Amino acid sequence: MIFSTKNHESSTGRSYKYILAPFVILPIMLLIATISRAVTITVMVFIGMGALYIISRPRHRNRSPFFFSWTLSSGLYMFLMFELVVMDFWEITYFENIIFLLLFAFTCHFFYKMKSTADFELATGSSKGVEYSPVLTSDYHYCKICEIEVNEGYFHSIWWDCCVLKPNYGYFLLGHIFCLATLLFGSNLTLTTVCQPYIFYGPILMPEDCGDVYYDCYLALCFVTCVYSLGYALVICSVLLHQLLSYIPKYGASQWKKMVHVFNV
Ligand SMILES: [Zn+2]
Repeated sequence: MIFSTKNHESSTGRSYKYILAPFVILPIMLLIATISRAVTITVMVFIGMGALYIISRPRHRNRSPFFFSWTLSSGLYMFLMFELVVMDFWEITYFENIIFLLLFAFTCHFFYKMKSTADFELATGSSKGVEYSPVLTSDYHYCKICEIEVNEGYFHSIWWDCCVLKPNYGYFLLGHIFCLATLLFGSNLTLTTVCQPYIFYGPILMPEDCGDVYYDCYLALCFVTCVYSLGYALVICSVLLHQLLSYIPKYGASQWKKMVHVFNV
């Protein structure tokens, strides 16, 4: 339930340059990273430090579409790199590609539902028969980025540019779980394609030696994108771990109460 104090239209005046910038910056950085192993490490550390700086500064300073655009550009480039370049080596089977596409489709579906549910709640929260009340409840939360007062709100995700509330929290978790699976599966397929693989267990291959990738620009680009996607997977692991320690118990308790209430009626 949301009690709006300001209209959620602040994004309309935002400049397009912040939306377009990640679509230019990210491929340039990935291209620079293909020069050598040392440059790859430097670029990845630079991106990681940049992300740490952003999440460590005051939240109201992160009111920009740049971060959501960075998420979209990352997803788009990693997907295109896999489908257009890695698949072009003809070492990945159609079955493996279908599994990858299914994981990717589920990821997109859950994140789309997360954002559309948040937008719906923001648009209709004040018209659900609950008028704005200055009395704060235990679930009361003021989002400094959306500039709205929300009830049942957990936190704001700058990387998805949306408030995460009780109604869309399940989609937030499922989106991240499927995203992690997609990144790990795609990275494994890519690394075993561009590097020397070895048989790990049954049909499962693992990369063994990636020393030759920098001699070919396509192999290097695939490898660097893969390193980036593994870094992304690491971030998602830390997000899920944080959720496990902070919000999942709260969400689980509320869902449990709801179930008990339904059975008691
Ligand atoms: Zn928000």
